[in-house]
Amino acid sequence: MSDEEWYDVVVVGAGVAGALIAKAVSDAKLTALVLEAGPERATSFDGYQRHVRHFYAAAAKNAESAWPPDPHAPQPDTADIRQGSGYFIQRGPDRYGSSYTRARGGSTLHWLGVSLRMLPEDFGIRTRYGVGRDWPIGYDELEPYYRKAEVAMGVSADVADQRYHGLTFGEGYDYPMRRLPLSYSDTKLAEAIAGLTVDVGAGPVPVTVRSYPAARNSTPRPGYRPIGTIDKRPEGGEVEMFVGERCAGNTSCTPICPIQAKYNAGRTLTQADDTYLRLIPQAVVSHIDIDSESGQVSGLTYLRYDDSGFTIHRVRGGAYVLAAHAVENAKLMLLSGLGGQHVGRNLMDHPALYAWGLAPEPIGAFRGPLSTAGIEELRAGAFRSQHAAFRFDVGNDGWRATTGAPDTTVAAAIRQQGLYGPRLRESLAAALSRQVRLSLAVEQLPDPANQVTIDPSQRDPLGIPRPAISYQIDDYTKAGMAAATQVAQAIFQRAGIADCTDHASGTWFPTVTWGDQVFAYHGMGHFAGTHAMGSGPHDSVVDSYQRSWEHRNLYLVGSGSMPTMGTSNPTLTLAALAIRTAEQLIASMSRG
Ligand SMILES: Cc1cc2nc3c(=O)[nH]c(=O)nc-3n(C[C@H](O)[C@H](O)[C@H](O)COP(=O)(O)OP(=O)(O)OC[C@H]3O[C@@H](n4cnc5c(N)ncnc54)[C@H](O)[C@@H]3O)c2cc1C
Ligand code: SF4
Repeated sequence: MSDEEWYDVVVVGAGVAGALIAKAVSDAKLTALVLEAGPERATSFDGYQRHVRHFYAAAAKNAESAWPPDPHAPQPDTADIRQGSGYFIQRGPDRYGSSYTRARGGSTLHWLGVSLRMLPEDFGIRTRYGVGRDWPIGYDELEPYYRKAEVAMGVSADVADQRYHGLTFGEGYDYPMRRLPLSYSDTKLAEAIAGLTVDVGAGPVPVTVRSYPAARNSTPRPGYRPIGTIDKRPEGGEVEMFVGERCAGNTSCTPICPIQAKYNAGRTLTQADDTYLRLIPQAVVSHIDIDSESGQVSGLTYLRYDDSGFTIHRVRGGAYVLAAHAVENAKLMLLSGLGGQHVGRNLMDHPALYAWGLAPEPIGAFRGPLSTAGIEELRAGAFRSQHAAFRFDVGNDGWRATTGAPDTTVAAAIRQQGLYGPRLRESLAAALSRQVRLSLAVEQLPDPANQVTIDPSQRDPLGIPRPAISYQIDDYTKAGMAAATQVAQAIFQRAGIADCTDHASGTWFPTVTWGDQVFAYHGMGHFAGTHAMGSGPHDSVVDSYQRSWEHRNLYLVGSGSMPTMGTSNPTLTLAALAIRTAEQLIASMSRG
């Protein structure tokens, strides 16, 4: 064991949650150390371009294809998840279908950037609908922090589009950048379903295609300067190439934006003052040490590795922040024998289905970002006492993962129809430009049996036990899947889209059954709930500031703190929570 340095705050993990807290701490002129398990990826413009090239060269364009894992900091991988193997030990009965990235920047390196707020009613579904759990804070308390998070991450949207289901915004506020224009296919779909209403159990609801907030650069509103990306902005530089360009619709946000129009947490870290902030990459925290008298955390043990092996280190601080991701936070607590009965439990995701079809005329698939719009009306309503809420992303990238398009479309034209030359080109142009895909993301409730544990018999190359996942999709969510499927069918019917959805053809997806229906689902990367916040240690791991009930100088941050997750992608909410936590943490340190 070597060195034992001291920092005001020690942060575990350089994803968005850790980066926002570390930056806030260093802005307050307190010292922060960030220990990051993975390597430093893309810390220069050229370095970033290497990852773009890696993605271009990859045969399978999945979430990990730009960001190869380091074996010392292993991570789940979409290809492994398909086979039920890999980093996660899948205990079943259903397969957990999501992945994350362990490198500086964390999972925002490969995220899509959808930055929806949770709805006011999402914070109290137990009281309102008799299901799930209530949060210890409400929307109004989090609203100012949503605004701060939208500025910190650079979110593009217009408030005028986002006032639905009771969402409110601070007086005079609008997003830092204007909304991205709807893609051509979104506009066509919007026109085609105008006037459509559906009923999923609580009366007729009009359905519309609506632009959603995205952490991708668009036209800045007056006074907003898009934040830097991966390099320090050159002093006095005339060309701000490192600011990240405006989204140009390259359609590869997941896993990498070639022009850096999309936010990743590396930007936040790059902006921080390195007089106060130090980051150590390739440093895997393996144990949280507790002072037996005070019950406070007394230090962290971490392993620094390189190609020749690893060394063991210890660090101490005034406060400790676990920002290692919902699964890794729980794993670290369990490895250290901490957290009591609730740690690791209530793991959630948004299990998602696809619906795909062929529009009657070309709608410009593959033009624009992967998606710019969604269908948000079924995120709320009295039906939530009976079944899960859901929302749709409208895809602009053809059928993609559903069937393997465009490769499979080409293969079918050649092998099954025997086409080649001009007829092949005509056939592909006609088919690919008409492909429509909806992604149906369904709410999941907390269930203590859905759980992360550790398996000491299965260890990673540093000797750290791997996470084991027990997971089941319950009837509430399956009934939501059935309702979502009906709505997708109604949309296709109204738009004259030939429904080609065939869950049996997506054979690599795990399936669940509901009555006589079979649903092939995938994960959205929306892990939540492993160290949920609540009203006391009897029902939760942390308080509303994400502060451990048991060890008051320890914070567990990220989507693991979310008691429920509604239907919104979690990152904006976890970022808002992180900013709120940082404020409280800094204030408490200033008070001494
Ligand atoms: C394909 C995909 C698309 C997504 N798209 C969206 C989207 O559009 N909108 C949205 O809201 N969300 C999206 N998400 C989810 C989003 O990426 C995550 O919610 C978010 O990045 C989590 O941030 P975090 O900081 O909590 O964790 P992470 O970003 O995972 O960061 C955790 C960091 O901790 C480090 N770490 C882990 N263990 C240790 C350890 N023991 N010691 C030291 N460091 C450690 C990791 O290396 C990592 O850098 C998507 C996810 C996926 C997989
Ligand atoms: S659509 Fe393209 S340019 Fe826009 S954020 Fe995504 S990858 Fe970047």
